Amino acid sequence: METLDILILGSGPAALCLASQLAGQNLLIKCISTKSPKVKWSNTYGIWASELEELDLESLLSHRWSKTVSFFGNGASEDGNIPTEHQYDYGLIDRSAFQNELLRRCEDIEWIEDKALEIFSSNKVTEVQCQSGFKLKSRLVIDASGHRSNFIKRPFSKEVAQQAAYGIVGKFSSPPVEKEQFVLMDYRSDHLSKKELQESPSFLYAMDLGNDVFFVEETSLASYPPLSKDFLKKRLIRRLSNKDIQIKEIFHEEDCLFPMNLPLPLRNQAILAFGGAASMVHPASGYMVGSLLRRSPMLAQKLKIFLKDPNLSSIELAKKGWDVLWPFELKQRHKLYQYGLKRLMSFDEKMLRSFFLNFFQLSTKEWSGFLTNTLPLPKLIYVMSKMFIKSPLKIKLGMLKIN
Ligand SMILES: Cc1cc2nc3c(=O)[nH]c(=O)nc-3n(C[C@H](O)[C@H](O)[C@H](O)COP(=O)(O)OP(=O)(O)OC[C@H]3O[C@@H](n4cnc5c(N)ncnc54)[C@H](O)[C@@H]3O)c2cc1C
Repeated sequence: METLDILILGSGPAALCLASQLAGQNLLIKCISTKSPKVKWSNTYGIWASELEELDLESLLSHRWSKTVSFFGNGASEDGNIPTEHQYDYGLIDRSAFQNELLRRCEDIEWIEDKALEIFSSNKVTEVQCQSGFKLKSRLVIDASGHRSNFIKRPFSKEVAQQAAYGIVGKFSSPPVEKEQFVLMDYRSDHLSKKELQESPSFLYAMDLGNDVFFVEETSLASYPPLSKDFLKKRLIRRLSNKDIQIKEIFHEEDCLFPMNLPLPLRNQAILAFGGAASMVHPASGYMVGSLLRRSPMLAQKLKIFLKDPNLSSIELAKKGWDVLWPFELKQRHKLYQYGLKRLMSFDEKMLRSFFLNFFQLSTKEWSGFLTNTLPLPKLIYVMSKMFIKSPLKIKLGMLKIN
């Protein structure tokens, strides 16, 4: 059996981003995935336009909005309907174009359609046993099989918060959002009864896709236990019918559920991971694609250097990989975000509205840097402290409360 340099598990955005950076470097690489990399991805990926512009990839946007707003009022009065204008472009990634572009860069990499069942590590190499009985040996295995991976060891966490959402791409009796508008968070809550307001909060994420087609998604930022699809679907319909809007036609339904605060993987394991399996989802926003694009080139470049040393075992290679993927700076930032998320999860809808209203009073550089995880640690601490100082007393107390 040949020994590969790198074996990647998966064919989602994480696997393709990393494989595309490792391709063409004279490494012996193969990928195993339960799905062919040509099978179209089903998730709708949104991103701040600047994240793609910085990488010269803005042509991968299928839609781009400059009219980007949120609503943090209660919706009951004129004042409660005033939008917060973000004045920052947001876009939807053209999934096919993105996937095809990454695949084009992976031309010399072979994908095997199979499911990795078990992984064994000896001192030097790691062996992957597939469902078909097929076995592969590699110096380094990189798990990009998503957040449900059973292969990656991480500290036990009893209550992992999940982001949940139910969305529809469709036609409606009247426009759910204004023409050419993108709504990041509509937290207006005048459609909910007093009892419902005590339940876990959710917001509307919505956009005009053109030609009278809209995407509307009822989203729970993070909760444990997660909000169910039925719950969110009912909330969405109630929100729409409160404005006398009926759904006329559904082209696509999105049912979204993924962990927001998975603990970071342990470093002393023989496998490395990337993407959802490596806890790379932003713990305060749920976004990850920008991070995959930003972090894959450096990881690929370093792995190539580490692999030049033939004496390094799988566990040594993986450890070096983890150090590149999760250096001190990013681990500290992750801790701060996790702390922030935990506090936000304890807020009721009124407190959340007040919190976000304040958050978006920060400068664009500050709030967008926070949401994209691109602020250096000292700046992140500064921005979080600034938020704290500017917050009303009730929010300050909520931010400090130790659970
Ligand atoms: C509905 C939804 C919407 C989202 N929207 C956004 C967004 O707008 N913006 C954003 O930045 N992030 C978003 N996210 C978060 C995150 O970017 C996605 O979850 C992203 O798809 C994760 O990428 P991944 O490659 O790590 O995992 P996945 O996309 O889950 O891919 C995992 C891959 O591994 C394969 N696989 C699984 N098990 C095995 C196995 N045992 N052996 C071999 N192969 C295996 C699967 O076939 C798949 O190809 C969204 C997530 C969801 C669920």
